[in-house]
Amino acid sequence: MRLLMSDDFAVRCTSCEFTWNTAAMADGLRVLGACPKCKGALEFRDDAPPPAPAAPARDADASAAPHMVLGLPRI
Ligand SMILES: [Zn+2]
Repeated sequence: MRLLMSDDFAVRCTSCEFTWNTAAMADGLRVLGACPKCKGALEFRDDAPPPAPAAPARDADASAAPHMVLGLPRI
């Protein structure tokens, strides 16, 4: 996991070169789509946001669970 607390930026305006360093601002600016200061184009360091951790698919897990595949052992 990379830290954002570096000298790098999360978002940078390609026009006025203002930088934002927090993921929260990156999210907001991604929605905004342009530099709030000069309406310039934004450069996102992480253009492809990492996929959110997949929530465990309970259905898939259940169907793949051994007792669901093989059937509950019953005597
Ligand atoms: Zn700008």
